[in-house]
Amino acid sequence: TAKRQGKNRIEIYAPGLLGERPSRAELRRDLSGAAARDELVLHYQPVVDLTTGTLLGAEALVRWDSPSRGLLGPGEFIAVAEDTGAIAGIGAWVLDRACRDLAAHPERLGGWVSVNVSGAQLNDGGFVDIVRGALTRHGVQPVALVLELTEAAAVTNTELAVRTLQALRALGVRVALDDFGTGFSSLSYVADLPLDVIKIDRAFVADARPSGQAALEAIVTLGRRLGLVLIAEGIETIAELDRLRGHGEMAGQGYLLARPMPLEALTDQESLLELATKS
Ligand code: C2E
Ligand code: MG
Ligand code: MG
Ligand code: MG
Repeated sequence: TAKRQGKNRIEIYAPGLLGERPSRAELRRDLSGAAARDELVLHYQPVVDLTTGTLLGAEALVRWDSPSRGLLGPGEFIAVAEDTGAIAGIGAWVLDRACRDLAAHPERLGGWVSVNVSGAQLNDGGFVDIVRGALTRHGVQPVALVLELTEAAAVTNTELAVRTLQALRALGVRVALDDFGTGFSSLSYVADLPLDVIKIDRAFVADARPSGQAALEAIVTLGRRLGLVLIAEGIETIAELDRLRGHGEMAGQGYLLARPMPLEALTDQESLLELATKS
């Protein structure tokens, strides 16, 4: 296709921009077997009640431990995986591993685990069965699984996406809208999505200006009016934490509380808030 030729042309004519890094083609090739070769790793970031400090759950974030490249973050390979179709295998692996980890160590992860889902997964007709399979294999209750979607993922192929979300919620799985406020969908569209949780993007957490606080206030009001759980993302400073607490009860995650980390490192999570706010 024309699109594919365009991409090849960039690789051929702009080698300097790519430096010594392995080519995009090699990345695409290696990625296809990454799940099967057991090269994927999950890190978990605790989600905490910002009022009480209680550990509520944890977000699973995938990494690729590539033999030739080292540990890569999702920003370096998820888009490629979506493009090649490798996301199907990666996504299924992530769901299975997150459920397995939650079943084995519920005390480390809190009450639930959340998993990020790409639009391509949501629009794959077999997705509900993949989710159900992961839950059943590890004996995890559906209510203990949260699926995180971005607006873009929920908006592409709207009808199928909405039907899939409804089927998942009928199972008892909860659905979160990730990076809320950064997409381009209208508020009325978002209000119509079958959702349980809104994850407030770090952009609104970090913005201390009156206009930023007004935007945050609007998101919080919308979420509460819709009866949704609010989770603030990317809390890095005590000032940010204090501002969020000024908006009432909500949950949050961020480097201030805990970085994403391997399952084995998730111990003694109850003191996260206390540690973060101790001067
Ligand atoms: P996200 O779901 O919005 O995840 C939050 C990202 O913010 C994570 O980056 C996390 O490490 C980072 N983060 C956490 N606390 C802070 C903070 O205090 N400050 C800042 N600046 N950042 C913070 P990460 O792990 O690189 O993941 C990036 C994105 O990749 C995720 O964004 C998610 O959209 C996607 N992703 C991660 N795992 C998966 C997966 O298994 N499947 C799919 N489809 N996408 C994934
Ligand atoms: Mg997420
Ligand atoms: Mg997010
Ligand atoms: Mg984000």
